Amino acid sequence: MADKLIIAIDGPCGAGKSTLSKLLAQRLGYVNINTGAMYRCVALAAQRGGVDVDDEQALAQLCAGLDIHFSDNGATVWLGDEDVTTQLRTPQMSMLTSKVASSPAVRQAMLYLQRRLGAAGGVVLEGRDIGSVVFPDAQVKFYLNASAEARGRRRYEELVAKGMPVKLDETITAIRRRDAADSGRECAPLVKADDAVEIDATALSIEQVLERMLQVVHAYQNGVDGGR
Ligand code: C5P
Repeated sequence: MADKLIIAIDGPCGAGKSTLSKLLAQRLGYVNINTGAMYRCVALAAQRGGVDVDDEQALAQLCAGLDIHFSDNGATVWLGDEDVTTQLRTPQMSMLTSKVASSPAVRQAMLYLQRRLGAAGGVVLEGRDIGSVVFPDAQVKFYLNASAEARGRRRYEELVAKGMPVKLDETITAIRRRDAADSGRECAPLVKADDAVEIDATALSIEQVLERMLQVVHAYQNGVDGGR
């Protein structure tokens, strides 16, 4: 049995995927790859370069010239030699990213990059289509969900802590809009893979979700069905 697994964590925005992906990777000694940050880099570069996000050819060209990489096990995101971690996380960038992520040209470029980064295993990748499209053969797949209200509140508290001027009701509305865009797009929409373990985090703490994930991973490593 492979000991360096590919672990996929998919789900809608604000469910805690980034935090859990980081913690799970830490506990397992794995590499953590935040694929949302990669799409955010494309959106940032498109905005800066004045690229028309409806122009597939221009987007393909843009992606071909991008150098996206991570340091600190996924915590710091680099676009070329610039640390863009903070700039990627504004509400405006979130909405533009959802738009850019519906482009087949962008998805093709990110798919290639993500497969290259994850192929050797020993990775936790989080996103929207990891278990369904990027690594359909991943050994362990999670679908992390929570109510829109719970996700909106979490995202609101994160943004407030960073000093951003946001409102709770607007944050929940934006989450619902992104859910609709991510689930409704034609190319690689957000779906739960048939063999993913679904965890509803609405009433669970981060620690409780992490323990549940570790149980599933260890069950897989011990050759037991992990609750799928
Ligand atoms: O995870 P995060 O909220 O940073 O992702 C930003 C956006 O990137 C998502 O709303 C989604 O549109 C897009 N995305 C995607 N596929 C992924 C990861 C993110 O389409 N695997």
